[in-house]
Amino acid sequence: MVLVLDSTPAPENAAPTAAVTAPRPTLAGLGREGLAAALAAIGVPERQRRMRVGQLWTWLYAHGVTSFDAMTDISKELRGRLAAAYSLDRPEIVTEQISADGTRKWLLRLPRRGHEARAPEIETVYIPESDRGTLCISSQVGCTLNCSFCHTGTQRLVRNLEVSEIVGQILLARDRIGDWPNFADRGAPDGAEIKDTHLLPSSERKITNIVLMGMGEPLYNFENVRDAMLVASDSGGLAFSKRRITLSTSGVVPNIARWGEEADTMLAISLHATRDDLRDVLVPINKKYPIAELLAACRAYPGLSNARRITFEYVMLKGVNDSLAEARALVRLLAGIPAKINLIPFNPWPGSPYECSDWEQIERFAEVVNRAGYASPVRTPRGRDILAACGQLKSESIKLRASQRATAAEGP
Ligand code: SAH
Ligand code: SF4
Repeated sequence: MVLVLDSTPAPENAAPTAAVTAPRPTLAGLGREGLAAALAAIGVPERQRRMRVGQLWTWLYAHGVTSFDAMTDISKELRGRLAAAYSLDRPEIVTEQISADGTRKWLLRLPRRGHEARAPEIETVYIPESDRGTLCISSQVGCTLNCSFCHTGTQRLVRNLEVSEIVGQILLARDRIGDWPNFADRGAPDGAEIKDTHLLPSSERKITNIVLMGMGEPLYNFENVRDAMLVASDSGGLAFSKRRITLSTSGVVPNIARWGEEADTMLAISLHATRDDLRDVLVPINKKYPIAELLAACRAYPGLSNARRITFEYVMLKGVNDSLAEARALVRLLAGIPAKINLIPFNPWPGSPYECSDWEQIERFAEVVNRAGYASPVRTPRGRDILAACGQLKSESIKLRASQRATAAEGP
Protein backbone atom coordinates (compact mmCIF):
# COMPACT_ATOMS: atom_id res chain seq x y z
CA MET A 1 0.00 0.00 0.00
CA VAL A 2 1.20 3.48 -0.71
CA LEU A 3 -0.19 6.23 1.42
CA VAL A 4 0.55 9.67 0.09
CA LEU A 5 -0.02 12.31 2.72
CA ASP A 6 -1.02 15.82 2.04
CA SER A 7 2.12 17.66 1.06
CA THR A 8 2.79 20.60 -1.12
CA PRO A 9 5.89 20.15 -3.23
CA ALA A 10 8.47 22.85 -2.67
CA PRO A 11 8.42 25.23 -5.61
CA GLU A 12 11.70 24.57 -7.33
CA ASN A 13 12.40 27.97 -8.73
CA ALA A 14 10.69 30.20 -6.24
CA ALA A 15 13.05 32.85 -4.93
CA PRO A 16 12.99 32.74 -1.13
CA THR A 17 11.74 35.89 0.53
CA ALA A 18 13.13 35.85 4.03
CA ALA A 19 10.06 36.98 5.97
CA VAL A 20 7.70 34.56 4.29
CA THR A 21 9.81 31.46 3.88
CA ALA A 22 11.87 31.50 7.07
CA PRO A 23 10.04 29.07 9.35
CA ARG A 24 10.46 29.25 13.09
CA PRO A 25 13.35 26.98 14.05
CA THR A 26 12.28 23.83 15.81
CA LEU A 27 13.26 22.87 19.34
CA ALA A 28 12.26 19.25 18.74
CA GLY A 29 15.40 17.16 18.54
CA LEU A 30 17.82 19.58 20.16
CA GLY A 31 20.24 18.49 22.86
CA ARG A 32 20.52 20.26 26.22
CA GLU A 33 23.04 22.77 24.93
CA GLY A 34 20.87 23.61 21.96
CA LEU A 35 17.83 24.10 24.17
CA ALA A 36 19.79 26.28 26.60
CA ALA A 37 21.01 28.44 23.71
CA ALA A 38 17.45 28.74 22.39
CA LEU A 39 16.24 29.87 25.82
CA ALA A 40 19.08 32.36 26.12
CA ALA A 41 18.17 33.82 22.74
CA ILE A 42 14.69 34.75 23.97
CA GLY A 43 16.01 36.27 27.18
CA VAL A 44 15.48 33.50 29.74
CA PRO A 45 17.92 34.41 32.54
CA GLU A 46 20.86 32.08 33.00
CA ARG A 47 19.88 31.03 36.53
CA GLN A 48 16.59 29.62 35.20
CA ARG A 49 17.90 27.90 32.13
CA ARG A 50 18.86 24.56 33.63
CA MET A 51 15.45 24.12 35.16
CA ARG A 52 13.70 25.21 31.96
CA VAL A 53 15.81 22.85 29.86
CA GLY A 54 14.78 20.05 32.21
CA GLN A 55 11.11 20.89 31.74
CA LEU A 56 11.40 21.11 27.97
CA TRP A 57 13.32 17.85 27.93
CA THR A 58 10.54 15.94 29.65
CA TRP A 59 7.81 17.40 27.44
CA LEU A 60 9.75 16.87 24.25
CA TYR A 61 11.31 13.49 24.85
CA ALA A 62 9.31 11.70 27.55
CA HIS A 63 5.84 12.88 26.44
CA GLY A 64 6.48 13.82 22.83
CA VAL A 65 4.27 16.91 22.87
CA THR A 66 3.84 18.77 19.62
CA SER A 67 2.50 22.00 21.12
CA PHE A 68 3.93 24.49 23.61
CA ASP A 69 0.41 24.80 25.06
CA ALA A 70 0.71 21.29 26.44
CA MET A 71 3.67 22.27 28.65
CA THR A 72 1.53 22.99 31.66
CA ASP A 73 4.31 23.54 34.19
CA ILE A 74 5.73 26.39 32.12
CA SER A 75 4.08 29.78 32.58
CA LYS A 76 1.72 30.97 29.88
CA GLU A 77 3.87 34.00 29.35
CA LEU A 78 7.01 31.95 28.64
CA ARG A 79 5.06 29.48 26.50
CA GLY A 80 3.92 32.43 24.43
CA ARG A 81 7.46 33.66 23.97
CA LEU A 82 8.64 30.17 23.03
CA ALA A 83 5.85 29.76 20.52
CA ALA A 84 6.57 33.15 18.97
CA ALA A 85 10.20 32.26 18.35
CA TYR A 86 10.21 28.50 17.88
CA SER A 87 8.22 25.51 16.66
CA LEU A 88 8.17 21.85 17.67
CA ASP A 89 8.12 20.72 14.07
CA ARG A 90 9.37 17.33 13.03
CA PRO A 91 10.84 16.80 9.56
CA GLU A 92 8.06 17.24 7.02
CA ILE A 93 6.56 14.04 5.64
CA VAL A 94 6.50 13.92 1.84
CA THR A 95 5.25 10.34 1.58
CA GLU A 96 4.55 7.50 3.94
CA GLN A 97 4.57 4.01 2.48
CA ILE A 98 3.41 0.90 4.27
CA SER A 99 4.72 -2.44 3.03
CA ALA A 100 2.65 -5.61 2.99
CA ASP A 101 4.87 -6.84 5.84
CA GLY A 102 4.14 -3.81 8.02
CA THR A 103 7.41 -2.01 7.29
CA ARG A 104 6.91 1.71 6.94
CA LYS A 105 9.06 4.09 5.00
CA TRP A 106 8.90 7.83 5.25
CA LEU A 107 10.33 10.21 2.74
CA LEU A 108 11.09 13.35 4.73
CA ARG A 109 11.81 16.86 3.61
CA LEU A 110 14.22 18.96 5.62
CA PRO A 111 14.28 22.72 5.79
CA ARG A 112 16.27 24.26 3.02
CA ARG A 113 19.44 26.11 3.94
CA GLY A 114 20.77 29.26 2.35
CA HIS A 115 22.83 27.66 -0.40
CA GLU A 116 20.47 24.81 -1.17
CA ALA A 117 18.49 25.09 -4.37
CA ARG A 118 15.68 22.99 -2.90
CA ALA A 119 14.86 21.21 0.31
CA PRO A 120 16.90 18.03 0.82
CA GLU A 121 15.11 14.75 1.40
CA ILE A 122 15.96 11.71 3.48
CA GLU A 123 14.35 8.38 4.31
CA THR A 124 13.54 6.65 7.59
CA VAL A 125 12.25 3.10 7.91
CA TYR A 126 10.35 1.33 10.70
CA ILE A 127 10.53 -2.47 10.77
CA PRO A 128 8.14 -4.21 13.17
CA GLU A 129 8.98 -7.76 14.25
CA SER A 130 7.35 -10.06 16.76
CA ASP A 131 9.83 -9.32 19.55
CA ARG A 132 11.04 -5.85 18.62
CA GLY A 133 10.54 -2.82 16.45
CA THR A 134 13.56 -1.35 14.72
CA LEU A 135 13.86 2.17 13.44
CA CYS A 136 16.44 2.63 10.71
CA ILE A 137 17.53 6.24 10.57
CA SER A 138 19.60 8.33 8.19
CA SER A 139 22.67 10.31 9.18
CA GLN A 140 23.36 12.21 5.95
CA VAL A 141 21.50 13.29 2.85
CA GLY A 142 23.00 10.82 0.40
CA CYS A 143 26.51 9.50 0.95
CA THR A 144 29.97 10.50 -0.25
CA LEU A 145 31.09 6.91 -0.46
CA ASN A 146 30.29 4.88 -3.52
CA CYS A 147 29.78 1.29 -2.50
CA SER A 148 29.00 -0.37 -5.81
CA PHE A 149 25.98 -2.36 -4.55
CA CYS A 150 24.30 0.49 -2.65
CA HIS A 151 21.56 2.70 -4.03
CA THR A 152 22.30 5.52 -1.60
CA GLY A 153 25.86 5.57 -2.92
CA THR A 154 24.61 6.67 -6.33
CA GLN A 155 23.37 9.87 -4.76
CA ARG A 156 26.09 12.34 -3.92
CA LEU A 157 26.13 13.89 -0.50
CA VAL A 158 24.12 17.01 -0.20
CA ARG A 159 24.86 17.48 3.45
CA ASN A 160 25.21 16.17 6.98
CA LEU A 161 22.08 16.02 9.09
CA GLU A 162 21.76 18.26 12.14
CA VAL A 163 21.24 16.78 15.61
CA SER A 164 17.58 17.83 15.53
CA GLU A 165 17.12 16.22 12.11
CA ILE A 166 18.49 12.91 13.36
CA VAL A 167 16.47 12.93 16.59
CA GLY A 168 13.52 14.33 14.62
CA GLN A 169 13.29 11.04 12.71
CA ILE A 170 12.71 9.21 16.00
CA LEU A 171 10.12 11.73 17.18
CA LEU A 172 8.28 11.60 13.89
CA ALA A 173 8.23 7.80 13.82
CA ARG A 174 6.89 7.69 17.36
CA ASP A 175 4.22 10.23 16.39
CA ARG A 176 3.18 8.24 13.33
CA ILE A 177 2.93 4.85 14.98
CA GLY A 178 1.48 6.13 18.26
CA ASP A 179 4.51 5.18 20.30
CA TRP A 180 4.53 7.75 23.07
CA PRO A 181 4.07 6.25 26.52
CA ASN A 182 1.46 8.74 27.67
CA PHE A 183 -0.15 9.48 24.43
CA ALA A 184 -3.28 10.92 26.04
CA ASP A 185 -1.15 13.56 27.81
CA ARG A 186 0.41 14.89 24.69
CA GLY A 187 -1.90 17.85 24.57
CA ALA A 188 -3.52 19.56 21.68
CA PRO A 189 -1.66 18.64 18.55
CA ASP A 190 -0.91 21.61 16.40
CA GLY A 191 -0.24 19.66 13.25
CA ALA A 192 -2.21 17.41 10.98
CA GLU A 193 -0.21 14.36 11.87
CA ILE A 194 -2.54 13.16 14.62
CA LYS A 195 -5.47 12.43 12.31
CA ASP A 196 -4.33 8.92 11.53
CA THR A 197 -6.34 6.11 13.09
CA HIS A 198 -3.19 4.05 13.46
CA LEU A 199 -2.28 6.37 16.30
CA LEU A 200 -3.81 4.60 19.24
CA PRO A 201 -2.64 5.05 22.82
CA SER A 202 0.00 2.53 23.63
CA SER A 203 1.59 1.66 26.93
CA GLU A 204 4.13 -0.56 25.25
CA ARG A 205 7.01 0.61 23.17
CA LYS A 206 6.81 -0.16 19.51
CA ILE A 207 10.23 1.17 18.60
CA THR A 208 12.67 -0.76 20.79
CA ASN A 209 15.84 -0.55 18.69
CA ILE A 210 17.56 2.11 16.62
CA VAL A 211 19.96 1.30 13.82
CA LEU A 212 22.04 3.91 12.01
CA MET A 213 21.71 2.04 8.75
CA GLY A 214 19.73 4.46 6.63
CA MET A 215 21.24 6.93 4.22
CA GLY A 216 24.76 8.11 4.85
CA GLU A 217 27.97 7.16 6.59
CA PRO A 218 27.35 8.03 10.25
CA LEU A 219 31.03 8.22 11.18
CA TYR A 220 31.44 11.03 8.63
CA ASN A 221 28.90 13.07 10.59
CA PHE A 222 30.45 12.13 13.88
CA GLU A 223 29.54 14.94 16.29
CA ASN A 224 25.94 15.33 15.21
CA VAL A 225 25.25 11.59 15.21
CA ARG A 226 26.93 11.25 18.60
CA ASP A 227 24.96 14.12 20.13
CA ALA A 228 21.73 12.74 18.64
CA MET A 229 22.37 9.32 20.15
CA LEU A 230 23.08 10.95 23.50
CA VAL A 231 19.61 12.53 23.28
CA ALA A 232 18.09 9.19 22.24
CA SER A 233 19.70 7.32 25.12
CA ASP A 234 19.02 9.89 27.84
CA SER A 235 17.10 8.09 30.57
CA GLY A 236 14.95 11.14 31.33
CA GLY A 237 13.58 11.28 27.79
CA LEU A 238 13.58 8.88 24.87
CA ALA A 239 15.50 6.38 27.01
CA PHE A 240 16.81 3.96 24.40
CA SER A 241 19.40 1.69 25.93
CA LYS A 242 22.78 2.03 24.24
CA ARG A 243 22.70 -1.73 23.87
CA ARG A 244 19.73 -1.24 21.55
CA ILE A 245 21.37 1.37 19.37
CA THR A 246 23.64 0.11 16.57
CA LEU A 247 25.84 2.25 14.40
CA SER A 248 26.77 0.69 11.07
CA THR A 249 29.91 1.88 9.33
CA SER A 250 31.57 1.08 6.06
CA GLY A 251 34.85 1.25 7.96
CA VAL A 252 35.96 4.78 8.85
CA VAL A 253 38.78 3.35 10.93
CA PRO A 254 40.02 6.47 12.76
CA ASN A 255 36.54 7.17 14.11
CA ILE A 256 35.71 3.70 15.38
CA ALA A 257 37.52 3.86 18.73
CA ARG A 258 36.37 7.43 19.20
CA TRP A 259 32.77 6.34 18.69
CA GLY A 260 33.17 3.67 21.34
CA GLU A 261 34.61 6.19 23.79
CA GLU A 262 32.18 9.02 23.17
CA ALA A 263 28.92 7.26 22.26
CA ASP A 264 29.41 3.66 23.35
CA THR A 265 26.67 2.04 21.30
CA MET A 266 26.71 -1.32 19.58
CA LEU A 267 28.73 -1.45 16.36
CA ALA A 268 28.13 -3.05 12.97
CA ILE A 269 30.75 -3.23 10.24
CA SER A 270 29.87 -3.45 6.55
CA LEU A 271 32.49 -6.02 5.65
CA HIS A 272 31.06 -7.70 2.51
CA ALA A 273 34.36 -9.20 1.32
CA THR A 274 37.23 -11.17 2.76
CA ARG A 275 39.96 -9.94 0.38
CA ASP A 276 41.16 -6.40 -0.13
CA ASP A 277 41.04 -6.58 -3.94
CA LEU A 278 37.31 -7.37 -3.86
CA ARG A 279 36.50 -5.08 -0.96
CA ASP A 280 38.25 -2.23 -2.81
CA VAL A 281 35.56 -2.60 -5.47
CA LEU A 282 32.52 -3.22 -3.27
CA VAL A 283 33.35 -0.80 -0.45
CA PRO A 284 35.89 1.62 -1.94
CA ILE A 285 36.78 3.20 1.40
CA ASN A 286 38.75 -0.04 1.78
CA LYS A 287 41.48 1.48 -0.36
CA LYS A 288 42.04 3.97 2.43
CA TYR A 289 41.44 1.62 5.36
CA PRO A 290 42.06 -1.97 4.32
CA ILE A 291 40.64 -5.05 6.02
CA ALA A 292 43.57 -5.63 8.40
CA GLU A 293 43.34 -2.08 9.77
CA LEU A 294 39.58 -2.32 10.03
CA LEU A 295 39.71 -5.54 12.00
CA ALA A 296 42.45 -4.16 14.26
CA ALA A 297 40.12 -1.25 15.08
CA CYS A 298 37.34 -3.77 15.79
CA ARG A 299 39.54 -5.77 18.15
CA ALA A 300 40.29 -2.55 20.03
CA TYR A 301 36.64 -1.40 20.20
CA PRO A 302 35.98 -0.21 23.75
CA GLY A 303 33.75 -2.52 25.78
CA LEU A 304 33.96 -5.41 23.34
CA SER A 305 33.08 -8.72 24.98
CA ASN A 306 31.05 -11.85 24.31
CA ALA A 307 28.05 -10.04 25.72
CA ARG A 308 28.72 -7.05 23.45
CA ARG A 309 29.69 -8.37 20.06
CA ILE A 310 30.35 -6.53 16.85
CA THR A 311 28.00 -7.38 14.00
CA PHE A 312 29.68 -8.00 10.66
CA GLU A 313 27.36 -7.37 7.73
CA TYR A 314 27.92 -9.37 4.59
CA VAL A 315 25.77 -8.70 1.55
CA MET A 316 25.21 -11.80 -0.61
CA LEU A 317 26.11 -11.03 -4.22
CA LYS A 318 25.68 -13.83 -6.72
CA GLY A 319 28.99 -15.07 -8.08
CA VAL A 320 30.85 -12.16 -6.51
CA ASN A 321 31.45 -12.91 -2.83
CA ASP A 322 29.24 -15.92 -2.07
CA SER A 323 31.50 -18.97 -2.54
CA LEU A 324 31.98 -21.44 0.27
CA ALA A 325 35.71 -20.69 0.20
CA GLU A 326 34.75 -17.12 1.06
CA ALA A 327 32.49 -18.33 3.86
CA ARG A 328 35.44 -20.19 5.34
CA ALA A 329 37.71 -17.18 4.83
CA LEU A 330 35.16 -15.03 6.61
CA VAL A 331 35.12 -17.28 9.63
CA ARG A 332 38.93 -17.37 9.72
CA LEU A 333 39.15 -13.61 9.41
CA LEU A 334 36.90 -12.99 12.40
CA ALA A 335 38.50 -15.57 14.67
CA GLY A 336 39.12 -14.09 18.09
CA ILE A 337 36.73 -11.15 17.67
CA PRO A 338 33.49 -11.40 19.67
CA ALA A 339 31.29 -11.22 16.58
CA LYS A 340 27.90 -11.80 15.05
CA ILE A 341 27.61 -12.31 11.32
CA ASN A 342 24.67 -10.91 9.45
CA LEU A 343 24.20 -12.23 5.94
CA ILE A 344 22.13 -9.73 3.98
CA PRO A 345 20.43 -10.91 0.79
CA PHE A 346 21.28 -8.26 -1.80
CA ASN A 347 18.34 -5.95 -2.39
CA PRO A 348 18.21 -4.94 -6.01
CA TRP A 349 17.38 -1.40 -7.11
CA PRO A 350 16.73 0.01 -10.56
CA GLY A 351 19.92 -0.35 -12.58
CA SER A 352 21.86 -2.19 -9.88
CA PRO A 353 24.86 -4.07 -11.28
CA TYR A 354 24.51 -7.20 -9.10
CA GLU A 355 22.12 -10.05 -8.44
CA CYS A 356 21.22 -11.56 -5.12
CA SER A 357 22.81 -14.95 -4.46
CA ASP A 358 20.54 -17.96 -4.97
CA TRP A 359 18.72 -18.94 -1.82
CA GLU A 360 20.37 -22.38 -1.76
CA GLN A 361 23.79 -20.74 -1.93
CA ILE A 362 22.91 -18.38 0.91
CA GLU A 363 21.87 -21.41 2.95
CA ARG A 364 25.09 -23.27 2.18
CA PHE A 365 27.13 -20.18 3.04
CA ALA A 366 25.14 -19.77 6.25
CA GLU A 367 25.78 -23.38 7.17
CA VAL A 368 29.56 -22.87 7.06
CA VAL A 369 29.13 -19.80 9.21
CA ASN A 370 26.76 -21.63 11.57
CA ARG A 371 29.13 -24.53 12.00
CA ALA A 372 31.77 -22.05 13.13
CA GLY A 373 29.44 -21.06 15.96
CA TYR A 374 27.56 -18.04 14.61
CA ALA A 375 23.79 -18.37 15.06
CA SER A 376 20.95 -17.59 12.59
CA PRO A 377 22.83 -15.13 10.46
CA VAL A 378 20.52 -14.39 7.51
CA ARG A 379 18.68 -11.10 7.64
CA THR A 380 15.21 -11.40 6.14
CA PRO A 381 14.66 -8.64 3.65
CA ARG A 382 11.89 -6.32 4.82
CA GLY A 383 9.85 -3.79 2.95
CA ARG A 384 11.28 -4.77 -0.43
CA ASP A 385 8.04 -3.83 -2.15
CA ILE A 386 8.49 -0.21 -1.11
CA LEU A 387 12.29 -0.08 -1.67
CA ALA A 388 12.77 0.23 2.08
CA ALA A 389 15.23 -2.60 2.46
CA CYS A 390 18.94 -2.13 3.16
CA GLY A 391 20.70 -0.13 0.52
CA GLN A 392 17.59 0.71 -1.44
CA LEU A 393 17.18 4.14 0.07
CA LYS A 394 17.67 7.07 -2.22
CA SER A 395 15.78 10.31 -2.15
CA GLU A 396 15.67 12.59 -5.12
CA SER A 397 17.54 15.40 -3.45
CA ILE A 398 19.29 17.62 -5.85
CA LYS A 399 22.98 17.06 -6.34
CA LEU A 400 24.95 20.19 -5.69
CA ARG A 401 28.05 21.19 -7.55
CA ALA A 402 31.35 20.60 -5.76
CA SER A 403 31.77 24.28 -5.00
CA GLN A 404 28.36 24.38 -3.37
CA ARG A 405 29.16 21.36 -1.29
CA ALA A 406 32.16 23.04 0.27
CA THR A 407 30.28 23.48 3.51
CA ALA A 408 29.11 19.89 3.69
CA ALA A 409 31.54 17.84 5.72
CA GLU A 410 32.65 14.91 3.67
CA GLY A 411 34.86 13.32 6.23
CA PRO A 412 38.61 13.35 6.52
N1 SAH B 1 26.91 3.72 5.53
C1 SAH B 1 26.78 2.77 6.55
C2 SAH B 1 25.36 2.58 7.02
C3 SAH B 1 24.26 2.59 6.00
S1 SAH B 1 24.18 1.20 4.92
C4 SAH B 1 27.36 1.44 6.13
O1 SAH B 1 27.70 1.30 4.96
O2 SAH B 1 27.52 0.58 6.97
C5 SAH B 1 23.46 -0.08 5.92
C6 SAH B 1 23.79 -1.49 5.48
O3 SAH B 1 23.10 -1.83 4.27
C7 SAH B 1 25.27 -1.69 5.20
O4 SAH B 1 25.74 -2.90 5.70
C8 SAH B 1 25.27 -1.70 3.69
O5 SAH B 1 26.42 -2.30 3.22
C9 SAH B 1 24.02 -2.46 3.39
N2 SAH B 1 23.57 -2.34 2.01
C10 SAH B 1 23.75 -1.30 1.19
N3 SAH B 1 23.16 -1.53 -0.02
C11 SAH B 1 22.59 -2.74 0.06
C12 SAH B 1 21.81 -3.53 -0.85
N4 SAH B 1 21.50 -3.08 -2.05
N5 SAH B 1 21.36 -4.73 -0.43
C13 SAH B 1 21.64 -5.16 0.81
N6 SAH B 1 22.36 -4.47 1.72
C14 SAH B 1 22.84 -3.26 1.34
FE1 SF4 C 1 27.35 4.94 1.87
FE2 SF4 C 1 26.90 2.79 3.44
FE3 SF4 C 1 25.80 2.95 0.98
FE4 SF4 C 1 28.43 2.58 1.25
S1 SF4 C 1 26.78 1.16 1.91
S2 SF4 C 1 27.44 4.04 -0.17
S3 SF4 C 1 28.88 3.80 3.05
S4 SF4 C 1 25.38 4.30 2.72
